[in-house]
Amino acid sequence: MSASETDFGNAVQRVEAEIDQAIMASRRTEGAGEGACEIVAVSKTRPQGVIREALRAGHQVFGENRVQEAAEKWPALKAEFPGVRLHLIGPLQTNKVKSALHLFDVIETLDREKLARAFARERDAGTPLPNLYIQVNTGEEPQKAGVLPGQLAALIDVAKNQLDLPVVGLMCIPPLEEEAALHFALLKKLADRHGLQKLSMGMSADFALAAQMGATSVRVGTALFGARS
Ligand SMILES: *Cc1c(COP(=O)(O)O)cnc(C)c1O
Repeated sequence: MSASETDFGNAVQRVEAEIDQAIMASRRTEGAGEGACEIVAVSKTRPQGVIREALRAGHQVFGENRVQEAAEKWPALKAEFPGVRLHLIGPLQTNKVKSALHLFDVIETLDREKLARAFARERDAGTPLPNLYIQVNTGEEPQKAGVLPGQLAALIDVAKNQLDLPVVGLMCIPPLEEEAALHFALLKKLADRHGLQKLSMGMSADFALAAQMGATSVRVGTALFGARS
């Protein structure tokens, strides 16, 4: 193994160990564990060479926040490493839906009816859809993507019930200056209320807390690859 492969492998092991500890702690206090929590390695801004080292170290789940950037980096990597699963974790414009569907294995950022209808059109035209998460703007921040908590039920009704889209989970990005735990608890409550299994929450600063609060996946960039320039 090269030095950077080993570095990445060690970083993943550290993050895994912290997650396992957090989940065990929550089992002790609450009786029931939440099961496994997957690490989505956020590779936005990282060049192909850096990502290839992570793939060689054995990691298979990655996240990108921009369709265009993913389209430049990932087709070659996916051809080299066929087991890879790529998550879209950034906002999706309807005119990029087609390319997103060709690249991503999970799309975490469904947040409006127009986008749901665009997915349904592609499905009806024969393109298989990946699993979808709905992004919830739990902090109700005007500049942030995501459906408002009060409008989630209506979006689920359109996307899941009327259009029959494969909506399986929720995702959130808490406001920077607020207690993340409040947002994780809200997302968990909303997921339970709507019978959705997957919960994408927690980043480098708070992935252990998120895992403890029921995250089924955490999105970790800096803690695995180092600071972004
Ligand atoms: C960049 C990004 C992350 C990873 O952030 P880190 O703090 O580097 O772990 C997670 N989620 C989303 C949506 C991001 O855009």
